[in-house]
Amino acid sequence: MPHRDDFGRAINYLRVSVTDRCNLRCVYCMPAEGIEKRPHSDILRYEELALIIRAAAGLGICKVRLTGGEPLARLGLVDFVRLIAAIPGIDDLSMTTNGTLLAHHAAALTGAGLHRVNISLDTLRADRFQYITRRGRLDDVWAGIDAARAAGLSPIKLNMVVIRGVNDDEVTDFARRTQTDGWHVRYIEWMPVGIGLDWSGNGVVSIPEIRARIEADCGPLEPVHWLPGNGPARYYRLPGAQGTLGFIGALSNHFCASCNRLRLTADGHLRPCLMNAREIDLSTPLRAGADLETIQALLATAIQSKPEGHRLGEQPSPRDRMMSQIGG
Ligand code: SAM
Repeated sequence: MPHRDDFGRAINYLRVSVTDRCNLRCVYCMPAEGIEKRPHSDILRYEELALIIRAAAGLGICKVRLTGGEPLARLGLVDFVRLIAAIPGIDDLSMTTNGTLLAHHAAALTGAGLHRVNISLDTLRADRFQYITRRGRLDDVWAGIDAARAAGLSPIKLNMVVIRGVNDDEVTDFARRTQTDGWHVRYIEWMPVGIGLDWSGNGVVSIPEIRARIEADCGPLEPVHWLPGNGPARYYRLPGAQGTLGFIGALSNHFCASCNRLRLTADGHLRPCLMNAREIDLSTPLRAGADLETIQALLATAIQSKPEGHRLGEQPSPRDRMMSQIGG
């Protein structure tokens, strides 16, 4: 049974960042030179992360999503997946990835117990992909998607961050793929904040605008009520489509009342709420020798004290909030 917080919400979902490093430098996410790297010693070892997840599972956490940085940029991820998949109580194990390294690992990840992946894909055009990511090759992502499908990772959801003047002319191209290829596409409102390029605020294409464009070009959207791993996106279907469309409006999508998640950073800090700057340091007690029960007690306290909602003045950046929704 999931642990309930003080507001009666059942907390069953943990997002685990396994690294702060990434092999891409997307223009809207990172500066060209990358971000300051944390020393390796700050990053929790896989065994340390696994102990925290085991403790969380004992409190009713049953869904785990691996993210980063780029999770596949960390060596040994397949073995880590095997470790997590074997934890009693974890019945939904997923990953958010840019897909560029997935072709090499999809089969092994499935074999190790990964259930599904969300792949970040902002464009269907090779030259544009190279511009947006500063160093990636779109063909690697296609190979990753093919490998994920062949390996049985399902459903595969494709996350598109829509930015005016950069890739917004592809919104309906992605939507049509839900009809022709059965894709599950999630449109993400770009957050003009954080450490990426400053697009001067004009880059944001709101979810209502994205929806209106799709409906004008492809026909009416019908609500879909169920898709495995349903998160904060609202899901729809175009006429005759096997695939679905989801919409994540990071600024307007308030889901505090039904929030079921916690986030663990790669350096071992737990965030009960992404809209609140409070973090619980699990790394220090862990490295001082805390056992599973002690970590579990810390997690239970953190869950108990999960804020009812965000409060102005205490908020982390809107980017953090968006990341909590899309898995970054
Ligand atoms: N490397 C993995 C990946 O690419 O999916 C996981 C981490 S990445 C930070 C998670 C997601 O955040 C990606 O879909 C990325 O496009 C998105 N993202 C990063 N910065 C963003 C921003 N300013 N606005 C909206 N989405 C953003």
